[in-house]
Amino acid sequence: MHELGIVFHVIKSVEEVGRQNCLTRVSAVTLEIGEVSGVVPSYLTDCWDWAVKKSDLLRGAELRTDILPAVTHCDGCGKDYPTVAHGKTCPHCGSGETWLLTGSELNIKEIEVPDPEPPETGEIPQQMG
Ligand SMILES: [Zn+2]
Repeated sequence: MHELGIVFHVIKSVEEVGRQNCLTRVSAVTLEIGEVSGVVPSYLTDCWDWAVKKSDLLRGAELRTDILPAVTHCDGCGKDYPTVAHGKTCPHCGSGETWLLTGSELNIKEIEVPDPEPPETGEIPQQMG
């Protein structure tokens, strides 16, 4: 399953970042997913919910997905146009000399950590007055 491989890759990357930053918990991860990357966000979430149970750092973490619109560039006229609406043929000049500018991305955009717990001092706060 394609999505499961992606999820494992993302979890590995987040764990790496967590180690570098001495994180103990991650509460949410935001992914940027290109519109034509072929990734189905709902499959991704299903795999995620299952896979994070195996990670101490990510257990219970939420997966958020940001869809990036796909844009194609035309070498014929130099303009950009939305890929999903027009495919590989430029709507401005009809040229087929086009290439995908953005839309196949899959990036970790944000890693969210829970609010820090108040430090334990072991002291009982003194009552004022
Ligand atoms: Zn064109």
